[in-house]
Amino acid sequence: MAAKVVQDEKPTKKVVVVGGGLAGALIAVYLAKRGFKVDVFEARKDPRKEVAQRGRSVNLALSVRGIESLRAVGAEGLVMALGIPMHARMIHSHSGNTTPIPYGKKGQHLLSVERQKLNNDLLTVAETYPDVRIHFEHKLIAADIEGGHLTFKCKGNDDKKLEVDADIILGCDGAYSALRRELMRRPRFDFSQEYIPHGYKELCLAPTKDGEFAMAVNYLHIWPRQTFMMIALPNQDKSFTCTLFLPFDQFDKLKTKDDVLNFFDAEFPDFLNLMGEEKLLEEFFRNPTGPMVSIKCKPYHVSDKLVIIGDAAHAMVPFYGQGTNCAFEDCLVLDGILEQHNNDFGAALQEYSRTRNKDVEAMCDLAMYNYIEMRSLVTSPVFLMKKKLFNL
Ligand code: FAD
Repeated sequence: MAAKVVQDEKPTKKVVVVGGGLAGALIAVYLAKRGFKVDVFEARKDPRKEVAQRGRSVNLALSVRGIESLRAVGAEGLVMALGIPMHARMIHSHSGNTTPIPYGKKGQHLLSVERQKLNNDLLTVAETYPDVRIHFEHKLIAADIEGGHLTFKCKGNDDKKLEVDADIILGCDGAYSALRRELMRRPRFDFSQEYIPHGYKELCLAPTKDGEFAMAVNYLHIWPRQTFMMIALPNQDKSFTCTLFLPFDQFDKLKTKDDVLNFFDAEFPDFLNLMGEEKLLEEFFRNPTGPMVSIKCKPYHVSDKLVIIGDAAHAMVPFYGQGTNCAFEDCLVLDGILEQHNNDFGAALQEYSRTRNKDVEAMCDLAMYNYIEMRSLVTSPVFLMKKKLFNL
């Protein structure tokens, strides 16, 4: 009788993750848990050694979708301990009156989480796995997908190039993904993108002189003004990150200090009072105005070689607060499909592309819909009545 062959259970395939942002760091953890050897290549410096940048999407609203995806790899503690619960929207009228509108039933809430801290912590969790290596300042500049060959430019090293071979490539390189650009050269790859007319600018509302939150803490504050709006989410350091969403042509009209002060005085007088004129002007003219894009594409994979996830596959406008949540859920869903297919990437990636597409495109559409709801419908009598009737 032939001797029983004892197979090594550990997968031998080498996975390369391009992008060490939120999706890249989390998928590295998922794949390491499956026993894969994972190399993450990230264009930026190690963010844990950098001072966090203000003015660019500082915090995120995480919901069940994202939290469950962290929980599945035992990483929910990263947000449960540090996230600030937001039980309701707090609507600010022109006159400064405030009205709370709960998000759900009693006890249900979103969590306001510091984006950079979450990213840093996820990178640290990934690095606790001996088979994960993270290479910072390595920017993908070319990819031969079928051949599994990637070329990176290594910053700070005379900009030398590094050639890397991979059995499987995970594209987590964000809304302006270099890997998606490669996919766009291929036949039958569908792609569409839409920039909305609005841009966003972040303003930091500091704690009061007594070191307290300047507004009620457990809320997502909204100043809906029909064609534009401002929102504010609480931070751990007792500041609020406020984001003004305004059409670019209106931003262009806010050229002088008087333009800005008059605008805030007319539209957000309570906020101006809390922020103070000097601080507002300093932040307004210092912080950039960012664009917002919605991207749909399919399929997300190439044979058993490559799959794109997160914003690389489905960037969405931020009004539904689901971009990161969906990126995290991509990791959970892909992991479940890999489990069903016993780590057979050929079968799993095909199924992932087929089944995931309609769900994330629905999220892109809902985000676009909420772009209108947040700035106008939340103030409509019908909406307020529905909320009351259904106790939402
Ligand atoms: P990213 O976070 O963009 O990470 C991509 C990474 O890839 C980056 O680290 C980048 O440096 C790296 N990279 C890029 N190109 C290369 C390359 N060529 N080679 C190597 N590395 C590369 N989502 C929520 O769920 N809740 C919210 O409340 C929320 N609020 C938002 C508010 C605003 C104003 C904006 C703009 C977005 C918001 N989002 C929110 C969406 C969220 O930011 C994104 O969905 C999320 O960052 C996607 O993660 P990602 O890892 O796919 O992409």
